[in-house]
Amino acid sequence: MAPNRRNLLAASLAAPLLGRGARAAWAPDRPVTITVPFAAGGPTDVIGRLVADGMGRSLGQSVVVENVTGAGGTIAAARVANARPDGTTLLFHHIGHASAATLYRRLPYDVLGSFAPLGLASDAAMTIVSRPDFPATDLAGVMAVIKRDGDKLTLGHSGLGAANQLCGMLLQHAAGTALTSVVFRGSAPVITELMAGRIDLFCDQATNTVPFLREHRIKGYAVTLPQPVPGLDLPTAADAGEPSLLMSTWHGLYAPKATPAEACDRLSEALRAALREDRLRERLADLVTDPASPERATREFHTRFLAEEVARWRPIIQAAGQYAD
Ligand code: ASP
Repeated sequence: MAPNRRNLLAASLAAPLLGRGARAAWAPDRPVTITVPFAAGGPTDVIGRLVADGMGRSLGQSVVVENVTGAGGTIAAARVANARPDGTTLLFHHIGHASAATLYRRLPYDVLGSFAPLGLASDAAMTIVSRPDFPATDLAGVMAVIKRDGDKLTLGHSGLGAANQLCGMLLQHAAGTALTSVVFRGSAPVITELMAGRIDLFCDQATNTVPFLREHRIKGYAVTLPQPVPGLDLPTAADAGEPSLLMSTWHGLYAPKATPAEACDRLSEALRAALREDRLRERLADLVTDPASPERATREFHTRFLAEEVARWRPIIQAAGQYAD
């Protein structure tokens, strides 16, 4: 009798919460760790922390961020692929997770097979920027300097397959000239070096560059979207004469593949709850970054989208013939 009564009591307490959008019963029994594959202070870290914060409120459990950097995010991804699949170790990664499937031929995990995608989180334009005293005033000027000086110029990025490295690759293709790459553990240290004038060029998410563009601590030339980006006083690369510079960077959340479905459902719901919060939306708006819509922040959409992104990057990387190993 007693257990039944307890069940009835639990059911009646829960009843008002159920119905449409009913909550999965799973709850994490210890703090959740979101593994961020790039350095603190960069876009993946900034968005990852906003998401962690909101998810913590939704889950009633602390959600902490751990930065595990290096090798374009593949070290962090390998760590999460092999973590205990109990819903308390997650990965927050970007477009580079999809390109790594082709770029790295000996990954210790399978991009499509080792993870349960939980939902997309955000999307941001890339911006083409330089040190403050770079000798150009517009994108045509940048391309002319690149064509003239080639590998005497330095291009910062976060490792092979990082979003800013892929964008830098587009830039070099457009110019038909290779630059000298300088690799960092994330966007935050590249910006520091750019402001100090020790790196010449960078192509990174608006999330990261906008605060420094506003303060004129770096110079901006173009955004890599087909249409101008409200809040960013830069022409599109196409309008500035370089239509092949097209790219945006998405971020998404993953659990290890064997994580139980009810944990994945609950974590995905917590992601959507985080994306609804005003504080996250205001902060992302200030960083000219779009939060994912509720439809995109689902397991189904993200699973499909990741497969499409892997397929989209494969021929591009194969044609370039440049692999990370
Ligand atoms: N923004 C970097 C990239 O483009 C990574 C980061 O620091 O978030 O890959």
